[in-house]
Amino acid sequence: GGFESLGLSPEIFRGVRRKGYRVPTPIQRKTMPLILAGSDVVAMARTGSGKTAAFLIPMLQKLRQHVPQSGVRGLILSPTRDLALQTLKFTKEIGRFTDLRTSLLVGGDSMENQFEELAQNPDIIIATPGRLMHHLAEVEGMSLRTVEYVVFDEADSLFGMGFAEQLHKILTQLSETRQTLLFSATLPSALAEFAKAGLRDPQLVRL
Ligand code: AMP
Repeated sequence: GGFESLGLSPEIFRGVRRKGYRVPTPIQRKTMPLILAGSDVVAMARTGSGKTAAFLIPMLQKLRQHVPQSGVRGLILSPTRDLALQTLKFTKEIGRFTDLRTSLLVGGDSMENQFEELAQNPDIIIATPGRLMHHLAEVEGMSLRTVEYVVFDEADSLFGMGFAEQLHKILTQLSETRQTLLFSATLPSALAEFAKAGLRDPQLVRL
């Protein structure tokens, strides 16, 4: 079960190697084949387990390359600006041999700069829920209907920080055919309810 057994395309595999990853971590070994096969997944994993790459590598593999005028195809929701920034860095590093475009929508940055980034037709958006909702309200024609792959990262923190209502709203804007992943250290009941509403026959992965 190494990275070479996943059937990754050469440019993604090269990005993984360049990042310095040689052997998948346990959470990666358990989740990546399920995700690549198209399953929705609830993964119980904390920071330090390698969970970010566990959802990024399959996402990059699925999106592969920039598609002009396609709309946003990958969406990652993070509870904090710092986590979103870290995830952006990993996305650029592992995806360095692709031409995928990634845009960061977090509070604390100017809306103007983010409008300009959105005008470049990003394939992937990494966002905090509040700022994403703000853009959906402000930007004419912006839609999440084209999203094929969505990740709720550190979902217990997303809920703990009071984003529940926004997350439920985001769910209603996604297409029925998307693939949905939820990564969380814990699974409190509100989150289990959310997973029930937002994920389709999810595979539950624990370490
Ligand atoms: P995370 O749990 O996603 O915050 O990752 C924790 C740390 O592990 C980060 O510094 C990652 O770059 C690193 N990491 C993730 N996957 C691997 C791997 N397969 N081999 C070595 N380091 C990794």
